[in-house]
Amino acid sequence: MGSRQVTSWQDRNITVAGLGVSGISAARALAGLGAVVTVVDGGDSEGHRARAAELEAAGISVRLNDAETLPEGTELVVTSPGWKPDGPLFLAAAKAGVDVVGDVEIAWQLRETGAQRRAAASGEPRREPAPWLAITGTNGKTTTTQMLASILKAAGLKTAAVGNIGTPIIDVVTGEEEYDVLAVELSSYQLHWAPSVRAHSAAVLNLAPDHLDWHGSMEAYAADKGRIYEGNTVACVYNAADPATEKLVEEADVEEGCRAIGFTLGAPGPSMLGVVDGILVDRAFVENRQKNAQELAHVDDVNPPAPHNIANALAAAALARAFGVEPRAVRDGLRDFRPDAHRVAYVDEVDGVRYVDDSKATNTHAAEASLAAFEPVVWIAGGLAKGATFDELVQRSAKRLRGAVLIGADRALIAEALARHAPEVPVTDLDRTDTGAMLAAVREAARLAEPGDTVLLAPACASMDMFANYNKRGDAFADAVRELATGSAADTA
Ligand code: ADP
Repeated sequence: MGSRQVTSWQDRNITVAGLGVSGISAARALAGLGAVVTVVDGGDSEGHRARAAELEAAGISVRLNDAETLPEGTELVVTSPGWKPDGPLFLAAAKAGVDVVGDVEIAWQLRETGAQRRAAASGEPRREPAPWLAITGTNGKTTTTQMLASILKAAGLKTAAVGNIGTPIIDVVTGEEEYDVLAVELSSYQLHWAPSVRAHSAAVLNLAPDHLDWHGSMEAYAADKGRIYEGNTVACVYNAADPATEKLVEEADVEEGCRAIGFTLGAPGPSMLGVVDGILVDRAFVENRQKNAQELAHVDDVNPPAPHNIANALAAAALARAFGVEPRAVRDGLRDFRPDAHRVAYVDEVDGVRYVDDSKATNTHAAEASLAAFEPVVWIAGGLAKGATFDELVQRSAKRLRGAVLIGADRALIAEALARHAPEVPVTDLDRTDTGAMLAAVREAARLAEPGDTVLLAPACASMDMFANYNKRGDAFADAVRELATGSAADTA
């Protein structure tokens, strides 16, 4: 794939694929720099037409209802991350010798433009564009990126969490605000389309099969994730418990002097961060790391202190420390951090049973991490399996399970895995996919649970068979728990 740095956008003929948030941001930014922009999108709804009208008013052409043909004269395609790389538009681009990149690549290329603009607007000398601390992984990206931003803020640095989250990254890079450093979440799709990004330091949190239909194979998926380390200058952060992430560091072409830094839930060796007696410690960014370790924070400073989330905190801390942040700011930033909704979120306690919503656990790797944080646990799972198998997840989690309640379209796959590997665990297979099924599931889980247990919604599946998205699924769970609590209070009154 090409990674040519564009020096002038004036009169360049650009096709933007996708009329979503990142596509609109790219189209506006490039048109603002004098490019001739056409946005293409396969949709043609009222919403599409309204957005198209706004762009057209800004001098941008929009072609709806056709996402397949490459507009005549296109010199560069800027794609939205979700578009599959073997789609017809990209085959046409390849045939015509036209590069395809994503909005993250454009953002990287516009950093200098942004710096010059801000200098011109403020009358101050031009400042270097903010370095990027980048994060990817199959699970935990958003959480870790937000933790990192919180730590950087606690250190008094001006920062934002961007990339796969928040304000579109092009808008941030070219905007008025001057940042010291950016915390950048990058999905495997975004990395695929961003060949020239060079982060100051980067972390791959973990690597498990996901989105393989998009990438074509596990190797291709891993290779796209591994791009995040290319050209790192200070640190490549890997997960010591996940050798695939370390291998990506070994294969990366980094700047001279860039270090490999591991994180582990155990005691850290030299050049690692880890945990000793409930304390997060740094044996990487300290003087004499053969002998010394620096205390950073207590595990209880991490919210929630589930093992996978402590791993996220260590990765965030490693990137912050690579950037020179003081230990105290790591602790303060972790204490200030509040996770987004539906990520191992405590809902309520009813009759001595705790109810936890991890609706965001949409794949088996995430569900396994969240099951590992509770015992005994009544597990509510199911939905759209996206081609996943559940044997390993069930095998590794069986001993924690008090019971399981299955919902959704692909629940039989989970039921079969439970029958194979955990035949003693009571399973209720709710043969319904209507929205009201969640209340039935919660009631059933309450029946299986004993005081002291946790009922955990960690579906290991996507939600779209029953709900608009994982947020709605989590909300339905929380509503059901509230209804259960009301019923329980009425019973005892
Ligand atoms: P992403 O942005 O990668 O989707 P999130 O931070 O939104 O990640 O977390 C998504 C889900 O993944 C969480 O609800 C939790 O179940 C799980 N998760 C979070 N961190 C990890 C981790 N380090 N390892 C495994 N699973 C994780």
